[in-house]
Amino acid sequence: MPWVNEEMCVGCGLCLDECPVEVISMPGETDVIDDEKCIRCGRCHDVCPEEAVRHDSERIPQGIEANLDWTRRLLEHFDSVKEKRELIERMKRYFAKEKKVAE
Ligand code: SF4
Ligand code: SF4
Repeated sequence: MPWVNEEMCVGCGLCLDECPVEVISMPGETDVIDDEKCIRCGRCHDVCPEEAVRHDSERIPQGIEANLDWTRRLLEHFDSVKEKRELIERMKRYFAKEKKVAE
């Protein structure tokens, strides 16, 4: 899934013209991609002169951190080490299930 690095985007608008389904908009200085409607053709990535349209794989560290934050918040509801360990195992099974579904 493409996404726009706002610090790299100069707002030239080339990607807006290139998108076949018109799901890129520019509400401010930089553009925004509608994830739900994007058909993953990659044209915006190819046309951007600033390499501001980035690949989803670059956001894996943020995804991991989000999962850790979520798990930490849930851990606050449990007191014993045993319960906390059980929760961690449940979360690991949940994330593994999500990976299988995605594959
Ligand atoms: S083509 Fe690149 S620099 Fe131009 S508006 Fe799109 S993302 Fe920004
Ligand atoms: S990948 Fe294709 S459909 Fe998605 S925003 Fe880029 S140009 Fe549009």
